[in-house]
Amino acid sequence: MQNYQIQPVGFIQSPYKQKFAIPRQPRLVPQAKAKLVFCGDFNREEFVRGIEEFTHLWLLFRFHETADKGYSALVRPPRLGGNERKGVFATRATFRPNGIGMSAVKLEGVEYKNAQLALLLSGIDLLDGTPIVDIKPYLPYSDAMIDASAGFADTRPETLMTVSFSEQAEQFIAKQTRYPELKEFIINVLKQDPRPAYKKQKQQTQFYGMSLYEFNIRWQVDGEHNQVIEITRE
Ligand code: SAM
Repeated sequence: MQNYQIQPVGFIQSPYKQKFAIPRQPRLVPQAKAKLVFCGDFNREEFVRGIEEFTHLWLLFRFHETADKGYSALVRPPRLGGNERKGVFATRATFRPNGIGMSAVKLEGVEYKNAQLALLLSGIDLLDGTPIVDIKPYLPYSDAMIDASAGFADTRPETLMTVSFSEQAEQFIAKQTRYPELKEFIINVLKQDPRPAYKKQKQQTQFYGMSLYEFNIRWQVDGEHNQVIEITRE
């Protein structure tokens, strides 16, 4: 069998510092902004000349945190409550042969500062430090298929969860002038209900935590409601 070597063209700087609570697909949380920082020979403006003509890009990346953990032919998509199995190639699961992911994201701008080339992106579903192996423009005339159907993942996931904030959390957010969208960001992440599928069936109150930017966010789930209890700096 032929083996290939691929090298990263750059790395993602993302507010998502851990896998838990990252949305399951891109563009579900528009406030998720990231920088794609080019590396090595790819840190040259020629590589992106003309890219700002495109509003959206495909990113091909390596699921670097899980890629060495192997794969199986059958996986349990969270959409199906974790109860049913589908072939890995019929899903967007992270544990897959070659550990390659793809996400269509919004291009907000191109930056060249202090001899460092970067793309400014939003709506990302990528962990901080994710290696990017290729970038291609999104072509609506070919990539957008309005008559396509998508079986068990045919519609945008429902976001029935409501979100509220404790007084401490409200006050903490109000002070973070560097992140004016922080509250909306947290709301949209929690509305996606990041809990693993099997936990959603449990009725009792549950507590969770996630890292966004340099913040630890703790919340409590009660039925269909998320209450952000406390936000602290790491
Ligand atoms: N849009 C991509 C795709 O379809 O290939 C990713 C879909 S995958 C279901 C999304 C999940 O990948 C996120 O919820 C997050 O937990 C996980 N993830 C993101 N970046 C990762 C990384 N670098 N390594 C491992 N897992 C990652």
